[in-house]
Amino acid sequence: MNLSTMLDDPLINELLESNTESHALLGHVGDELGLIAASKFFRQHIGFKSGSELIVARYGMSVYRALFNSLLKNQGWTGHVKVNARWIRLQISAHGEFGVLHEQDVSSAANVHATSGSDGIERASDAPDTAERKIPASVLLNVDDKGRIKKISPSLEEFLGQSGQQLENLDAANLVFRTDVGQFKRLLDQVKYQTGTADGSFRLRNTDNHVVYFDWTAACSGADVLLIGRSSNIHLEEALLKSEGRINNILESMDDAFFAIDMNGYVNYLNEKGAELLGKSAPLLLGRMVWERAPHLKKTPLFKFVNQAKGSMQPETFQWQDPANELWYQVKAFPSEELISIFFTDISSIKRNESKMRHQATHDSLTGLPNRLALSQTLQELLGNDQVQDFKLGLLFIDLDGFKAVNDTLGHDRGDDLLIAVSKRLRSVVRNSDIVARLSGDEFVITLPYIADQDTAFNVGRKVVDAVSKKPFELGDKKIYVGASVGVALFPTDATDVEGLLKHADIAMYQAKQAGKNTVRVFHANMSATLQTKVDLENDLHDAILHDRIELHYQPRFNTNGTICAVEALARMRSRTGELIPPAQFIPIAEETGLIIPMGEQVMRKACRWLKDTNKKLKVPISVSVNVSGIQLLDGKLCGTVEKILKLTGLPPKLLELELTETVLMQNQESVLHDLNRLHEVGVILSIDDFGTGYSSLATLHKMPVQSIKLDRSFVSDLPGKTDSVILSRTVLAMAQALGLSVVAEGVETAEQRDFLIESGVMELQGFGLARPMTADDSRQFVWAQQITSDSARKILA
Ligand code: C2E
Ligand code: CA
Ligand code: CA
Repeated sequence: MNLSTMLDDPLINELLESNTESHALLGHVGDELGLIAASKFFRQHIGFKSGSELIVARYGMSVYRALFNSLLKNQGWTGHVKVNARWIRLQISAHGEFGVLHEQDVSSAANVHATSGSDGIERASDAPDTAERKIPASVLLNVDDKGRIKKISPSLEEFLGQSGQQLENLDAANLVFRTDVGQFKRLLDQVKYQTGTADGSFRLRNTDNHVVYFDWTAACSGADVLLIGRSSNIHLEEALLKSEGRINNILESMDDAFFAIDMNGYVNYLNEKGAELLGKSAPLLLGRMVWERAPHLKKTPLFKFVNQAKGSMQPETFQWQDPANELWYQVKAFPSEELISIFFTDISSIKRNESKMRHQATHDSLTGLPNRLALSQTLQELLGNDQVQDFKLGLLFIDLDGFKAVNDTLGHDRGDDLLIAVSKRLRSVVRNSDIVARLSGDEFVITLPYIADQDTAFNVGRKVVDAVSKKPFELGDKKIYVGASVGVALFPTDATDVEGLLKHADIAMYQAKQAGKNTVRVFHANMSATLQTKVDLENDLHDAILHDRIELHYQPRFNTNGTICAVEALARMRSRTGELIPPAQFIPIAEETGLIIPMGEQVMRKACRWLKDTNKKLKVPISVSVNVSGIQLLDGKLCGTVEKILKLTGLPPKLLELELTETVLMQNQESVLHDLNRLHEVGVILSIDDFGTGYSSLATLHKMPVQSIKLDRSFVSDLPGKTDSVILSRTVLAMAQALGLSVVAEGVETAEQRDFLIESGVMELQGFGLARPMTADDSRQFVWAQQITSDSARKILA
């Protein structure tokens, strides 16, 4: 049983026509069970949507399965389901591959009664037309080789209400009922080109719009064709017309566009949406060859799939985009013996979601920049394209300096704002054809295809650094400065594949980080031997903390008369392979991952133990300073940790100094200030590290319980030659004095620097020119030796 015979079945028609009962026609479409048609009542009270959606939504998945299986086995099924707090009896009866579903509300008996009232009204409107014309028993039609009327029998003249003369030379197709024109034309062709005589059926329509079915025998008579028609049973014809009306009703009520064509492609039925899709009004399409009427569709996959369905006699389901309006449809083509019924469900919104999801998969939702996936895809394409001779591509790996502090002190929302603003600045320094991608967190990559040379890539790197660091970012009411470290690698010189290129640019970036803020480094082959990638480092760091591979070196600090007054503990990581990794490489990772908390505690414990043991042999005890990351301070547990360690080691609090960074202090956070005050009460010394590189304000500094500042070595290195640095260091010193703070100069390398600083009023000095950081043992020996012979100590300053 196929769909059109099903729809022609009088009982099915009756059911689908019902105004009082919920009936629906179900069938398998592809691998799902779908709604094909439904009664008026069903449509009014439940709605209609072709496909499985409505069935699943209304009855649930388990009932859907039960219906699905019963139809598959060609069996009926009855069950109950609760819908909107009412019990519903569902019954499906199988009709070939289709099923007729009946839904009945059994919550109240009243409802059952109500279903039996309105039959009479329906019949009245369906009563046959009384103004019937006489139907001729047989008619004769003579047409020429082009199908033009030459002669007709008197019986036909009477039926048509027109004389043979009136009709002469008119295309006989005009007499044929619109949907049967195809059959008529085929009959003519068959006679002319193939058999000489042929049989067929089609309807004629007269001027009163009266339609009569005729069975025809056609025969060639010279170049003409003679057609003899015998009228079919009038009841059959009426039943057909009526069922057509019903089908039209169903089809018009569908959300889907629909048309049905016969095996030769002539349009048999269609609804309004179907006509819209084909681009012409229904009368211009019915009985016409669809691909001739809508030639633009013949060039689309629709043509292929419909023919495929026709060839295999299997339903086809596929997605198709209408070129006329760009809408996406889920198309289902059901072939049967005479017809191919084609349904078009609009899935444009689903498609839009799909493309949105595709965009989401390849773009960073925060900045809208391409993500790692998109970057490597594009790079793959670019590098794979060996058509271009001497193709060079520069890759910049960018990591922000100081982002973590912003994120932690101002909150993630501000951090996000900063990333968005940074991404805009990055975009603004490169060409449209360059790709700016965000890899993760505060890591960005810029690709520079068709770059001339390494220098050009380096210069873009400088531009990036300037764009990020020269102007502050305005986040809420705060002005925040951040920097950027940039690593550069070149294709094909440094690597010929995406992985390698990214890795080498990453390595160069780490070198840049190590060299200090706002630096650009170009990859060099001997970098990779000593440097690891970030991922390797992160794993190694985890392990190093667990297995005590964080080592401390100590750098002595001197007062102006040349005696050691303190040491600074500086962390190094012993890698799995035994190399000593400098803090610039692993501290940022420790901060990012939070590993800085356990690591910081280890460092502090080790430093305190070291000092306790060292001081045992000293007449005048020295102190130790430990670097504390902003993350540790913001964690809120620092004070507890310090107290615990002091107790554990028995070290007097005043011998422990904590070096804090400006960024965190200057955010002026209540909780941080509170913790600093507690630490101050405990008795440890607080100092500000790298002073002058951040943006400390005097007012904020005044509120902090700090006792000393360490003048950053970038000022010291320019002394005493550079006027700017001279003025700056003098100003800092004056300011410190006014606030009662002691000043330590770090990075003292030369005698001139030392003399200038002492003369300017600096109280303590640290630097390679006095003593380098040394291992725990070496530094202890160094301290002991210096203090035992104070003469030799003075020699250091001499
Ligand atoms: P910092 O706190 O400014 O430490 C001083 C750095 O300057 C040390 O580098 C030291 O070796 C170097 N230095 C000392 N004198 C001179 C000199 O005369 N010239 C030059 N060019 N450099 C000099 P190092 O050990 O590589 O440490 C780098 C940074 O890593 C430190 O800078 C500090 O911010 C951080 N760091 C080190 N250990 C720790 C730690 O345990 N915890 C935390 N949070 N940070 C640490
Ligand atoms: Ca320090
Ligand atoms: Ca420092």
